[in-house]
Amino acid sequence: MPNVLIKGYKILRTVRVGQDFSLAEVEHKQSGIPDCLCGSHRLIHYDSYRRYIKHVSENGAIYHLNVKCKRYKCLDCGRVFRERLEGVRPYARHSERFKNRLVSEYARNVCNKAIVRIYRISASTVERAIHSRYEQKLKEQINYPCPEIIGIDEHTIHKGYKFATTIADLSHHRVYDVIKGKRHIDIAGALMSYKGRENVKVVCMDLSSGYRSIVRRCFPRAKIVADRFHVIRLVLYHFMEFCKSAQEEVKWKRSLTYPLRKRRERLKAQEMERLKSFFRGNPAIELAYEFKERLCGLLNKKSQTAKQCRDNIRKLRSTSKIVE
Ligand SMILES: [Zn+2]
Repeated sequence: MPNVLIKGYKILRTVRVGQDFSLAEVEHKQSGIPDCLCGSHRLIHYDSYRRYIKHVSENGAIYHLNVKCKRYKCLDCGRVFRERLEGVRPYARHSERFKNRLVSEYARNVCNKAIVRIYRISASTVERAIHSRYEQKLKEQINYPCPEIIGIDEHTIHKGYKFATTIADLSHHRVYDVIKGKRHIDIAGALMSYKGRENVKVVCMDLSSGYRSIVRRCFPRAKIVADRFHVIRLVLYHFMEFCKSAQEEVKWKRSLTYPLRKRRERLKAQEMERLKSFFRGNPAIELAYEFKERLCGLLNKKSQTAKQCRDNIRKLRSTSKIVE
C-alpha cells in the first residue's frame, strides 16, 4: 500500500515519526537504464550511495526519504555518473513537490517562521524555494520584447559574495531581467537572446568600459548614456582622492570626510564651520570643493534644453580654468 504514496520510488521500509513525519527508506525505480552523455548504452553498475531528500507524498504526508541511488560507468567513454531521480534536481535535498508545498503554504499567507517550524527546514531553504518559483513565473511574464530604454547595473547579493546584473525597463520603471553573475560572457549571452534588441534606443549604464563593447554589439542602434548616479559617484571618488593626496588627515578624519562629500546645502552649521576653518589652511582643496559643488549642481539639473546645456558647459569651463 505505501508504494502508492511515492510515485517512482520503491519503498523498502517506513518509520513513522510523530504525527506528520515519516522516515522512509526507498529505492528509485529506474525506468530503463539511462544513456551516457556520449550516447552509449553500454553501462555497468558502478556503485551505490544514499541521498537524503525531503518529499511530500501523493496523499500530502511529509517524508524524509533515504534513497538508495546508483552510479553507472560508461564502458565506451569511461565516465562515471549518477542516476537522475524523478522529481528531484541534481544535488537537491528537497523534491520539487516539497518545494511546491512550501510555495503554496507561502501563498496561503503562512509566514516563513511557521513554515520553518512545521517543515523542519532552514529559513534560507524556504526563501530559495519561493524565490526560484517566483523568478520562473516572472520570466514567463516578462517575455515581452525588449524595451526601448533600458538601464544596466550590477549588484552584489549574499553579502557581497555573488553578483547579479539587473536590466531595467526604464520607460515603464520596472525590472526587465536579472542576469546571474557579472562575467561578460554571461551578460553578452543573455543580452543577445532578447527579442527586439535592435529596437533599443537608449542604454543607461555606469561608466565601466567593460560593458560598453558588449552593449554596442548587442544593441547596435542604441545610444549609451551614463546615468547621473554613477557619474556623481565618480566625481566624488576623484574629488576625495585628490583631497586625500593633498591633505593626509582627510584619510582618517571622519569629521572632515563626511562634510567634504556632502552637498553644500545639506551641511549643518557646525559642519560648515569645520570646513571653513579647514579650507583656511588648504586653499587648493577649497577650490576643488567649489568645482565639485558646481559640477554636481550641474549634474543634478533635470530637463534642460540644448541651449541651456551649452550655456551650462560654457559656465563650467570658465570656472574650471581657475582650478587648473
Ligand atoms: Zn559514455
